Amino acid sequence: MKNTWRERQVSKCIKFGNKYRFFKPLMLLLIVFIVAIDRTRIAIYGSRKKILGVAIAFFVFLISNSFSTPVFQYQSVVALDQDEQESEEIENLENLQEESSEEETIEELQNLEIEGEVLTEEEDLYSVDEILQNTQMNQYIDNETDMTEGYEFSKEDWNLLLVNKQHPIPENHTVELGTIAGSMKCDARILPELFAMLQAAKNDGIYLSVCSPYRDLSRQEMLFNRKIRLYMGYGYSYMDAYIKASEYVMVPGSSEHQIGLALDIISNNYTSLDEGFEKTDAGKWLKEHCDEYGFILRYPKGKEHITGIGYEPWHFRYVGKAAATIIMDNEITLEEFVESISE
Ligand SMILES: [Zn+2]
Repeated sequence: MKNTWRERQVSKCIKFGNKYRFFKPLMLLLIVFIVAIDRTRIAIYGSRKKILGVAIAFFVFLISNSFSTPVFQYQSVVALDQDEQESEEIENLENLQEESSEEETIEELQNLEIEGEVLTEEEDLYSVDEILQNTQMNQYIDNETDMTEGYEFSKEDWNLLLVNKQHPIPENHTVELGTIAGSMKCDARILPELFAMLQAAKNDGIYLSVCSPYRDLSRQEMLFNRKIRLYMGYGYSYMDAYIKASEYVMVPGSSEHQIGLALDIISNNYTSLDEGFEKTDAGKWLKEHCDEYGFILRYPKGKEHITGIGYEPWHFRYVGKAAATIIMDNEITLEEFVESISE
């Protein structure tokens, strides 16, 4: 009878094992391996139809999945129109791969997560004294005037520009930047009231610090991709990490920081961007007085379903005093306010 492949290999191993006793245990292992391979081969050959069936089913599953995943994506991030979103995803993925080469550890990324909106070490942060040292106090506007009476709002007002996941920044949008301090900039038109607010808080014994005001698109993309990597590091798929990231960092192209009208404000003795800020004197002061200087608490607690963003007691948005007064007094969001303006 003709020897099978298995028998030939096993007898070779036995001979080798007998010749070199030192290799005997290794040869035993090899024999077990050979037998296992041979049995698998026979099993596969015997049920090749079944295996083909499973392979086809798996292939069909893969194909159908590649259609269903984007639908899931659009439901969760109702952001942009489909083409735009797709190309953006691809871009994000490419950027992500590029940036991954920087090799951030999960621990480094975790540190960022505690800070909610992401305050990084290279992010600028200036104290009230650094900001106000070169500022002429007499340029401030008169805050005693009641601007709310008889004020006509329009959805076209520059200060009421609604930017969120559903309303990305218009393509032709431009912003004239003014300097807050050092390299820190924001829309030049909001500077007088910002300075007035910082000074007023200081007069009340509250020392505010401003961080991450204006961000350009590339910076926003960097922060967003970094957040995606964090969640992917936790084991989320790219899609899920994208959705998770968009809860805390605005999808690039839909961040108010990109239009220069938003500021993250903290204080000299509480410098992390987290919910604890609401309990500090600075957090309380800002919530009570921000509207007097045209600012609103942009992402309030309990309005997450409208803003699409988690509670951020540190993120303030300039809308002008008239609108700010109405928004803060009625505890509504910019979304609701803009919605209420008649065409
Ligand atoms: Zn912010």
